Amino acid sequence: MILKIQNIIPQIQAVFVESKGGESIESISIDSRSLQNGPHTLFFALVGPNHDAHSYIKDLIGKGVQNFVVTHIPEDCVAQANFLIVENTLDALQAFAVYYRSLFDFPVIGLTGSNGKTIVKEWLNFLLSPDYNIIRSPKSYNSQVGVPLSVTAINEHHNLGIFEAGISTTSEMDKLQKIIKPSIGILTNIGTAHDEGFADLEEKIKEKMLLFQESEVVIFQKNNSVDGFVSAKSKAFSWSFSNKEADVFISKKQKSDQNTLIYYHYKGNSFEMTIPFQDNASVENAISCLMVLLYLEYDEKTIQNRMELLYPVEMRLKVKNGINNCSIIDDSYNSDFQSLKIALDFLESQKQYHKKTLILSDIFQSGLSNEALYSKVSHLIVSNKITRVIGIGETISAFQNKFTNGVFFKNTAEFLDSFDSLDFGNETILIKGARTFQFEEIVAALEEKTHETVLEINLNAISHNLNFFKSTLKPTTKMMVMVKAFGYGNGGFEIAKLLEHHKVDYLGVAFADEGISLKTAGIKLPIMVLNPESTSFPAIIQHQLEPEIYSLKGLHAFLKIAEQKKLKHFPIHVKLDTGMHRLGFEANTIEDLIATLKGNETVKVKSILSHMATSDDAAHADFAKAQINLFEKLSSKLIQELGIQPIRHILNTSGISNFPNAQYDMVRLGIGLYGVSNDPEEQKLLENVSTLKSVISQIRTISAGESVGYGRRFLAEKPTKIATIPIGYADGIARAWGNGVGFVTIKNEKASILGSVCMDMLMVDVTGIECREGDAVIIFGESPTVNEMAHKLNTIPYEILTSISQRVKRVFYRE
Ligand SMILES: *Cc1c(COP(=O)(O)O)cnc(C)c1O
Repeated sequence: MILKIQNIIPQIQAVFVESKGGESIESISIDSRSLQNGPHTLFFALVGPNHDAHSYIKDLIGKGVQNFVVTHIPEDCVAQANFLIVENTLDALQAFAVYYRSLFDFPVIGLTGSNGKTIVKEWLNFLLSPDYNIIRSPKSYNSQVGVPLSVTAINEHHNLGIFEAGISTTSEMDKLQKIIKPSIGILTNIGTAHDEGFADLEEKIKEKMLLFQESEVVIFQKNNSVDGFVSAKSKAFSWSFSNKEADVFISKKQKSDQNTLIYYHYKGNSFEMTIPFQDNASVENAISCLMVLLYLEYDEKTIQNRMELLYPVEMRLKVKNGINNCSIIDDSYNSDFQSLKIALDFLESQKQYHKKTLILSDIFQSGLSNEALYSKVSHLIVSNKITRVIGIGETISAFQNKFTNGVFFKNTAEFLDSFDSLDFGNETILIKGARTFQFEEIVAALEEKTHETVLEINLNAISHNLNFFKSTLKPTTKMMVMVKAFGYGNGGFEIAKLLEHHKVDYLGVAFADEGISLKTAGIKLPIMVLNPESTSFPAIIQHQLEPEIYSLKGLHAFLKIAEQKKLKHFPIHVKLDTGMHRLGFEANTIEDLIATLKGNETVKVKSILSHMATSDDAAHADFAKAQINLFEKLSSKLIQELGIQPIRHILNTSGISNFPNAQYDMVRLGIGLYGVSNDPEEQKLLENVSTLKSVISQIRTISAGESVGYGRRFLAEKPTKIATIPIGYADGIARAWGNGVGFVTIKNEKASILGSVCMDMLMVDVTGIECREGDAVIIFGESPTVNEMAHKLNTIPYEILTSISQRVKRVFYRE
């Protein structure tokens, strides 16, 4: 993209306030944290319910960005950059995308539906790439913001587009239609679920079909409610398993080898193809692709040859622990320029180490000449401050003179031969390669070897939950997030890093060593230590942690050390006991506290806090209110007599929900971030964060009368199929969860635990469940939920989460 700013102004109806001379624009951005922002970036300052990008403009100007689309010019930025002032920056972004799209005229495939969009998009890209230069939405960029960003990546070399559109309510699709302008429309599986945001299924279909209002053809599974919404301008091109009136009539047969044979009848003839999948969703997705190939008049042979090679689509960027303290970002399934940019932004948000390595294969299908492409890649690598590039492939190797910090190999095998000499250690490694390079072998070589049981942590869900709680707060209320006990069992550093990215105000840990390891790993956010032992005070000071002070004894001990070190205004947090009776100054010690702190210059009371004992329990609401009242009284007294202006805070997660009037200046979010609420209504609004997964080690069938496990506590009354799972009480699964109390989920079905849970294994009943050795097993996650488990085990979700042993590998991912 190279556009003159003057040409953009009328398109987004902006008032132009120029100070730097009309610039040419080469890219657009909405992410203030991206290292890819530069002088030729046009930055759209989007405004959300709890986020306003206008506050980052000053920073961005400092980093060289000169062109901004804004609703107003922030005071401290006047005359320092070019500003395009608009009423609404999201509308402007969309209008810009409409304009940009209008500069290109080639076939565009538009996809919508409830399920399968991203897979069909990726498969079509694979099936059509031998014949077209394709631009497609990266990952699942299908929202009101994602679609404009996808479309603005088109360049003059592309000759086919594939874009997906996702909507959550009415009135959204019209906007996306104008941006995508699909000539070929595909409605993937529409689902039957009643979605919030739509009155009923009919309304949902009607809204989705708006994407195709000007398409020449619409592809869908024949269905009367869809038929009626195909626009008069478009040709309907339908398929069906049951309705012979569809344009393409399909039947299928499962083969013994994991394949499905698909017969299709089209224009009076019968054909067949095989796909390497058996589940219904994959079959439907493959048929959607088939329809496009038929519409584009591909012959049977080509269809057959390409369909056979369909592959599982990996939609997540995974963060894994690597050998020698490395952390690995695994995006080993695709390499195109657009997704490289996204992965590099993700690397920046997750990087644990100063040292960043990129392992990159040849890039296909950029639409650019190789010369131009690798110049751009090299540029990107420089702006993202990548320490070392490892290029793998003939083409990237041929252009190695473009990279100053590279090592190059002709193929993956050559790289693996030199593996030891590359000295991987204490660095973050982004692995990004086209499928044919089989970079999964590189991931396997770099990954720390552990058991097959993993705790998967969904970083998107954490962001969602954080934003949910933020949205319930007054805009000025600050947020401390508790990451004690290893982020409630989920992983301390990775979550802290994400929270830093989201600019929360404070982190809270229980003990000094937790804070120290976060600080040494590079976390810059202020960290409060809830229960600092006196022996840890020197380390607390050294690492700039902030202690909670809860007694006169502790205060004097801290002051003594701080005075020796000649500190001035060292931040401390004063904890008041208002009824929890755990830690804190009681009412009768306040006078002494005031006397000690009055006029003291060594420490500064950064905040005053207390903790509630019953914020989650309506039956004790009076007690909770009494705690809040006492907090008000004691903290006000401190503030008055000391003449200070500390941050005040008392609410934990359930306090945030139940006592919104007691937010004071800050709240302390804990369990809610990790997706757990004790209020069923609120629970529905949170997303599941942690999924504990394992695999089936062995399957056997036992006869009636035989028993399972220690003590023969399960006796089969009939022939029973048993699966053994390699997870036990040493991993944190309560023994009480055995003997029929608990269950796991296999292939979406419940399998109850038979006999006692062993130290490292447990056995479940899989009678009637179609499963094999090696299949995935969910111990908790969507089902059973941690809440459900806690309830049956007579405990609380906190205990379940924090009990998961550290030998269980944590894997972080992002959708
Ligand atoms: C753990 C903790 C919190 C967070 O509690 P949740 O119920 O998990 O939200 C807040 N404040 C203090 C002092 C804590 O110890």
